[in-house]
This record gives sequence, C-alpha cells and structure tokens, in this order.
Amino acid sequence: MLRTPQRPTSLAVLTSGGDAAGMNAAVRAVVRAGLDANLTVYTVFEGFQGLVDGGERIKRATSAAVGGILHQGGTVLGTARCQEFRTPEGRRRAAKNLVEIGVDALVVIGGDGSLTGANLFKEEWRDHLKDLVESGEIDKEMAEAHRRLTLVGMVGSIDNDMFGTDMTIGADTALHRITEAIDAIHSTASSHQRAFVVEVMGRNCGYLALMSGIAAGANWVLIPENPPEEDDWEESMMNALRDGRSIGRRLNIVIVAEGAQDKYGNPITADHVRSVLADRLGEDTRLTSLGHVQRGGAPSAFDRYLSTVLGYAAVEQVITSPGGEAQLIGLKEHQIISSPLMECVEQTRAVADRIAERDYETAMEMRGGSFGDSFRMIKTMVRAKPHAPDPDQRRLRLAIMHAGAPSPGMNPAVRVAVRVGIDKGHIMFGVRNGFRGLEAGDVHEMDWMSVNGWASRGGAELGTSRHRPRGEHFAQIAQTLEKHQIDGLLMIGGWAGYNVAYEMSQHSDQYPILNLPIVCLPAAINNDIPGSELAIGADTALNNIVSDVDKIKQSAVASGRCFVVEVMGRDCGYLALMSGLATGAERVYLPEEGISLADLEADVSSLKVGFKLGKRLGLVITSEHADPVYNSGFIKQLFERESEGLFSVRQSILGHIQQGGDPSPFDRIQATRFASKSLQYLIDQALSDSPTSAFMGLQHGKIRFTDLSEFPNLIEADAHRPKDQSWLSLMPLAKVMGSPGVSAL
Ligand code: ADP
Repeated sequence: MLRTPQRPTSLAVLTSGGDAAGMNAAVRAVVRAGLDANLTVYTVFEGFQGLVDGGERIKRATSAAVGGILHQGGTVLGTARCQEFRTPEGRRRAAKNLVEIGVDALVVIGGDGSLTGANLFKEEWRDHLKDLVESGEIDKEMAEAHRRLTLVGMVGSIDNDMFGTDMTIGADTALHRITEAIDAIHSTASSHQRAFVVEVMGRNCGYLALMSGIAAGANWVLIPENPPEEDDWEESMMNALRDGRSIGRRLNIVIVAEGAQDKYGNPITADHVRSVLADRLGEDTRLTSLGHVQRGGAPSAFDRYLSTVLGYAAVEQVITSPGGEAQLIGLKEHQIISSPLMECVEQTRAVADRIAERDYETAMEMRGGSFGDSFRMIKTMVRAKPHAPDPDQRRLRLAIMHAGAPSPGMNPAVRVAVRVGIDKGHIMFGVRNGFRGLEAGDVHEMDWMSVNGWASRGGAELGTSRHRPRGEHFAQIAQTLEKHQIDGLLMIGGWAGYNVAYEMSQHSDQYPILNLPIVCLPAAINNDIPGSELAIGADTALNNIVSDVDKIKQSAVASGRCFVVEVMGRDCGYLALMSGLATGAERVYLPEEGISLADLEADVSSLKVGFKLGKRLGLVITSEHADPVYNSGFIKQLFERESEGLFSVRQSILGHIQQGGDPSPFDRIQATRFASKSLQYLIDQALSDSPTSAFMGLQHGKIRFTDLSEFPNLIEADAHRPKDQSWLSLMPLAKVMGSPGVSAL
C-alpha cells in the first residue's frame, strides 16, 4: 500500500542554466521561507554540478548566509552547464548526495533545459534509489524514508519565453539594461542623424526585442515569431525609415532579436540589417550588439519582488504537496499560480517548434494575447505617417490632459494616445497644465510629430496640476469644451484627476457638455487609484527608491547604522511595502496599519538584539503618512535614544527623486497598453448614442473599465486610497523576509 508522503523536513535549492538577475532574491526567499517553515535548507553551488559532486557544494543555509544578496545580479550560488547530469550515472550520484543528507525536496531556478533535467531526475528518482540500495550505497530504510522527490521549479531566464508564467525572473532587468542602452544611443544617434541597429537576446522569443522596441520608441523591430510578410522586406523597412527622415526624424533605431528570420526561415542577422541601411539606404549606420550587458547589473525592483513572492510560494508548494507532480511556480494575471512543470516545458518547446516549422501564426497565438497586441501596437507606432482618414467616418475631436502629481509614464501614454487617435482618423488636442488649462482654454491640436521622442521622456510635457475646479470653474471648463467642440476627454493622471472627472459629471445638469465621455487612465506613483492594481509611474518610483536604498544600505553596512527611510505614498503604503520587499527592509510602516508605541518598542528591541549579535545594518521603511505623530523623525529619535549605544540611527527622506527620472520600461509598456485601450474605449463611447465615462486599469491582470459613477463607492471615506488593495496580502511575506536579527540584510 502506498503511504502518502510526509511533509518534507528539508529542501535544497539551486540555480542552473543561464544566469538571470533576481536569482539571488529567489534563493534568499526560498531559504528564509524554508527556515520560517522549520525546514532544514541546503543551498547547492554550481547548479546540477553541485548536486552531482556533493560534499562542500551542498551547504546548510542560514538566514544570514543569504543576507546582502538581494541587490546583486547573477547568482551567488553559481550556475554551470553540467554534462554529467545529462547521464543516468550523474543523476544517480546526485540522488545519493541528496538522500545521504536526508533531502527529498528540490527547488530549481533555471530555464527550460534545467527544468527538463530536474523533471527527469524526479521521474527516475525511485529507480536511482533502488540501484543505490542494490549496490549497497544507501540502506533500505534511507531509501524508504525518501522514496519520492518533491520538485518545484521557477523560471530564471531573461528571454521571458516560458509557459506557466507571464514573466520570468530576469526579463524585466534585461529590459532595463536594453532600454538604458537604447536611451543612451538615442542621444548620440540623433546628434549625428545616424541609424543604429541594436541586436538583443532572444533565440526563439521576440519578447525583449518587442518590448524594448515599445519602451524605447524604436523605428523597426524584427522578431522570430512574426517575420516580415514581404519577400523584399528590406524595401518596406527602408521605405518606413525614409519616410521618417522626410518628416524630420533625426534618428532611426532598428531592433533585431537574435533569432529573427524571414518568412522562409532564413536568419535575419543584425549585420545584414546594418548593411542594408548603410549600402542600400545610404545611412551612416552603426551596429550595437548588447550581448551580456543584458544579463548584468542589479535586479530591477520588479525582479526582486517577483523572485521573492515566487520563492515564498515555491516553499509553500513543497510543504503542501510533498511528492506530487513536479510544479512550476509562476505569475499569471497578477496571481501566483502553480502548473505542472512538464506541461509548461512542452508548451514552451512547442512554440520553438512552430517557429522552426514556419507556422508563425500559431507561434504568435501561443505567445498569448498581449504579445500580439504589442506587435500590432508597434506596427502603428513605427509609422512615419498615420493612415489617411476614412472620408465616411466621423472625425472626433478628442482631448488629452493630465491632473494630479507628475508621474513617469505620462508622456509615453500621451504619445500613444495621440498617434492611435490620429491613425484612426480623429483630431487630437492637448490641454496644458491640468484642469487649470481646461478652465483657461489652453488647448492645442497635436499632430503625429508633436509627440516625437516622448516614448522615453520622464515628467509630463503637457504639464499637470493638482488644481480642483470649484463653482464657476465648471462654467469655464464647459466653455472651453464647447469652443473646441471636444467629443471626449482622456485624463491621464491621479487622485485629483479622478475626483474632478467625477465632479464634472455631477455638474452636467447645469452644463450639459460636461456629460461628454471621459476616460481616466491611472498615472500616479503612489498607486492609490481605485479600479486598477497598478498605476503608471509606480514601477519607476519603486526603482528610484530601490536604487537609492541600495546606496543607503552600503553606507549603513560600512558604519554599523540603522536607517529610517521615508518614502512617498500619502495615504497609501504601496511604495513602502513594495520597496521594503525589494530592498530587504526589516520593518515597514504603512498608513493602512498605523504605528503603535508597542510596535516601536518591539522593533527597537529586536534591532538591539540583532546589533548585539553582530548585525551591521538596520533598515526601516516608513510611508510618509504612516502615522501623524510617529513620523520618520520621531522614529529616528526614539530608536537612537533607546539604542543603548549599540547602533546609531539616520533618517532619510527620499522626497521628489521618487517622482522623477525617465520612466522604467515596464511603465512605458504599461502606458502604451493603457493608452491604446483607453483611447479605443473613448472613441467607442464618443461614437455611441449613450456614451458613458469610465476609469480604467488592471484587475486580475486584465484591462477593465469601471463606470465613473462608481468612484466614490470604491475609495475610503476619509483617506486617499482605494478600499480594495490586494497588495496588502504581501505584508506577512515582508515580515518573514525581513527576518529581524539577521546580521546583514
Ligand atoms: P537553461 O536551463 O537556461 O535552459 P541549459 O539548457 O543549458 O540551460 O540547461 C542547464 C543544465 O540543465 C544543463 O547543463 C544540464 O545539466 C541540465 N539539463 C538540461 N537539459 C537536460 C536534459 N534533457 N536532461 C538532463 N539534464 C539536462
């Protein structure tokens, strides 16, 4: 009779295959979550080679041993391509090494190759144990006690090419590196009117090429899944680039994925593209192959978050389904999910097979909806000129504006909305300086080139303000809308913008034009907007915070200090919690939870214990409105007063740097998606007989529109934040990961 396997008492974690930024964060999460669940945790060095070699390469892990690695790129465990693990003998040795230390649960962080190898290892596990018993290398009881291997995988791969997860660990960081490089190329290329061909990684998957193309505003993109339709595709590319020059574009950037090919399956190399541009088009063309730069550098805020939540979930999976079918832990539509590992690997391979068989349509479909949408989007954005308007179609007059605080990603959103609108035959207007501009009639038409270069620009070119119109102001707004015969309004902004949009509809009895369709697109670094899990700008703000806190931590380690870092957020603790997770803060204070004196007492004593045990730095992140009395200054004073000389405390208020800088790739991509969907919605409403107004956003990872009249029902009565904030469920995880008392974070 088969007995149900027991809950494992230990697990081993390894990284394998190509390295990816965020692998360290994943290892740290697995180790800390494992220890928190009372498991004995081992870290395996040099991937499967470490499993095969055993001995010193499989080390018992402590919480402190994975301190100070969260911000490091690559993998501190090392990774290797291991030939021996491809042989049954090698895998048998690996099984022996694990069983001997009592481990029968394995967490593997790697690409599809590594996960295939790990799955094979699991399938053969019983046979290996049988052989080992027969050869006398392990005894029968040992084999019996560990008769099943629990295997959980996470995908570490910069290509973002795996099924079972919307994002792989490392892909977002790679996009950061590519976008930074292309942004840098932009300035030099436009000074000289040059063309640049940029080769990015992606043998079977055009994700990096496509998304960096969107994020950096490339002028042509070549990916494996969707080869150019024409035989002489070079001619179409050259025509598009020529057209761009003729309307004054100063630079041309073509992104080529490593695995790009024509429709006959012949590779399209970056060098070929370069020679076409240089010899046939006559452009001064340079080729940049980004190579390993794409793998390097500190992980982005998103990769640290992703790896942390996946690692935590992987341990839960080990505990809850011991010995079950191998699972892959991934992120789907903003939810952590587990799926049968081998199915994911097979599906992933199937896309590569479709590409090899030149069945591009199926390959594109298998990549999923947003991939296809993104491809269509880039085809519009690279056009030098819009399609000619259809004479039979009504030409709408649509206005775009901001309101609320500036948020990185506003410019890319306006760029896309303007171009999508014009391309669909409508007339687009920009309103300057938020509702103040709408009152003053500061409205101007925007043409195709008016948004040139806005894809990567931070701030808000149109200007924004927190101004909230009152009384007579609504009459002025009505006048402006009437004067310009505006048929619909796209408000890209935050809290103030949502409130005013709602109030406009409340004044429509007096001024019927205020009943025009309005779409609100969430752009607010605080991520405090109802109707969306994510607002544009929050990712950039998080990356700003994380890179500054990384520096603060270095200074703290050097001097044995505790830092109290205050981040923005007004009444919403999103930035505090997420930056706490991404930087390894020991304690995060949020306005949603408040701060009590008892909390502060407990926290200062745990800091004291930690520093007594040799801890070298402390990090506490507090949201600006976490508590009206116990603010960062107070906490600093209190901690220092109570530290008994064990540590000194410094306060750091990060301030407006959080709002600044060029938008992160994720914010640019999100802005693109949001803006194109919002504008389409606005057009549909403006053309309908009974138009409605709405605010849009991501709900369970899908774009949804909520009727504007719902706004007051979805927000807290006395605080600037939505009632529903799903990210708050991460609080327990942040507590486990912060792990007070650890010698280094
Ligand atoms: P990635 O995991 O990034 O796809 P590789 O394909 O190079 O990287 O695989 C990494 C390691 O995983 C290989 O060196 C090998 O040890 C192991 N591996 C890959 N495929 C298999 C397989 N089919 N059987 C056994 N081990 C494998």
